[in-house]
Amino acid sequence: MTDEKQQKPASAQTLAANTALAEKLDFENRRDFENAARGHVASLEGGTIATGKGTKVWDLNEYGFLDGEDDIDTINPSLLRMARLNMANGLFEVCDRVWQVRGLDLANMTIIEGDTGVILIDCMTTAEVAAAGLALYRKHRGDRPVKALIYTHSHVDHYGGAKGVLTQDLIDDGQAQVFAPDGFLEAVGGENVLAGNPMTRRAQFQFGGLLRKGPRGQVDAGLGKITARGTVGLLAPTHVVVEPVERHVVDGLNVDFHLAPGTEAPAEMHMFFPELGVLNMAENATPLLHNFCPLRGSEVRDPRIWSHFLADAVERFGARTEVLVCQHHWPTWGRQEVTDFLERQRDLYKHIHDQTVRLMNHGWRPAEIAEVLDLPPSLREDWRMRGYYGTVSHNSKAVFQRYLSWYDGNPANLNPLPPVKAARKYVGYMGGADEVLAKARADFDKGEYRWVAQVLYHVLFADPNNQQARHLAADAFEQLGYQAESATWRNAYLYAAQELRHGVVKLPPRPVLSPDLLGAVATTTLFDFISVRLDPEKALGKRWQINWRMTDRDETVCQTLANETLTHIMDKQAASPVATASLPREVLVGIIVGKISVADALKTGSLSIDGDADAVTGLFAMLDTFEMQFDILTPGPEHL
Ligand SMILES: [Zn+2]
Repeated sequence: MTDEKQQKPASAQTLAANTALAEKLDFENRRDFENAARGHVASLEGGTIATGKGTKVWDLNEYGFLDGEDDIDTINPSLLRMARLNMANGLFEVCDRVWQVRGLDLANMTIIEGDTGVILIDCMTTAEVAAAGLALYRKHRGDRPVKALIYTHSHVDHYGGAKGVLTQDLIDDGQAQVFAPDGFLEAVGGENVLAGNPMTRRAQFQFGGLLRKGPRGQVDAGLGKITARGTVGLLAPTHVVVEPVERHVVDGLNVDFHLAPGTEAPAEMHMFFPELGVLNMAENATPLLHNFCPLRGSEVRDPRIWSHFLADAVERFGARTEVLVCQHHWPTWGRQEVTDFLERQRDLYKHIHDQTVRLMNHGWRPAEIAEVLDLPPSLREDWRMRGYYGTVSHNSKAVFQRYLSWYDGNPANLNPLPPVKAARKYVGYMGGADEVLAKARADFDKGEYRWVAQVLYHVLFADPNNQQARHLAADAFEQLGYQAESATWRNAYLYAAQELRHGVVKLPPRPVLSPDLLGAVATTTLFDFISVRLDPEKALGKRWQINWRMTDRDETVCQTLANETLTHIMDKQAASPVATASLPREVLVGIIVGKISVADALKTGSLSIDGDADAVTGLFAMLDTFEMQFDILTPGPEHL
């Protein structure tokens, strides 16, 4: 995938920048390494996890280059430290009755031993790694049944592996419960379904999944090494926590669920185990600066609320907490240490929020705020507050966006020419591409990589086939990647360099959204997902209403096409529909993902239509299918 010959060594300026940072950091402080290793019982055997057919879905051996303690000059020294911390893997005993599986995926699985079995907190991204994690635990602790699965929040690295640890049959039998925070399924649907395609594409940049691992490639993702491959699934919750604090007895243990909506995820909750003195902060207090809006894209999170719920957790549970566990990285032991860590995290998020808003109130623009904003020394000098995942820079831009939108208020930016038209003008005004390239080369030699990337954007949008611009931009991105402390910035820069040098990777066709994920989301989300695929040209002038009946559940939907727009109302039927379609919901999902055609479903009898069957067939013929590997670094043919 990567032609290593085209990758360059670190430049003199990159070496100087990385050395200057290293001199400011306290590498003597080894506490995080001690905590990451504490309670280690066993590593993942062979460092790999494979599917039944032998396909590797997880392979830590690819990170062998991180062994040892030597500097690697193409990796930011602070990021290199985190990349080594995240190599800790296997089964860990946190304290009596509390275990964690770490380093088998981006996220952790926490295992609490109840009276008759185990309570799992989160189940990683895929069934394969979740099953491997549970097997590793059982190898050392016996074959205890899973009595409950708790989803801390609505991100896939916390629920995607559900079917590796539980089955729907066990849940239906009442043998196991599944807990989730209020709004969980809606959040899964909102974030991962409607915008799933561009989010998945952009996540390639955030996590560097298509980069080779190595000193000049992917080294980490900040939160963990990377997301595991394999089968993503979802088991719907049986218990949704709706009160601010709800106590449940789960397999004989008291659990105080503490809702924290609108924080790191739209639906998220902490939990406290009073008998154990264990506080689980989900993903709201990990030993790094998290994202207010990740590079993959999301709705902007609210760091003010986030900080509030950290303060609230300290207030409610701090005095009774002996161990803090999170669903990424290592725990924190000791009451005072836990409180100190949570208070710093509370202030970390609040500081960036408040200071962005302060400068915003002075009339500063996003890029100006991002350029000057920094953390106070007490936070900056704490390894656990640094920007390995989020950064102060892009988090401050997210705060601005949250309050004042994408628009900086200057009407010059209200309706500018789109990228290609503007780029042609810019390059023309600057004397042509060759002139820009000559100047950019001189700036590259001076180490002005940010500017080189910025100005070559225009050359590439004016002419995406300009090979010299592609290669010089790639070289600039690469040095920016070597200098980046944030794993996500490094991945984005290095993956940009790879795509500029080698083009967009073609992936074998596969649905971005698994039928399993669509199967678990609310029916209204399925209809929204149909709506956002409507090609208005194909719908021009058409008007109808279709009544839908889900035969396997008590659900009806009235879907309306008018004004080249699809809308729907749940639990309603139109008085004079053009057609009434009856089918089990899973058949509808099959049609949506293209697994079955309307014609085939009619033939097999899984779909029956009263009225005009052509209207139903015609609906699906009006829908776009999305290509995931669209162009990002260059305009893409449809924009030229
Ligand atoms: Zn996570």
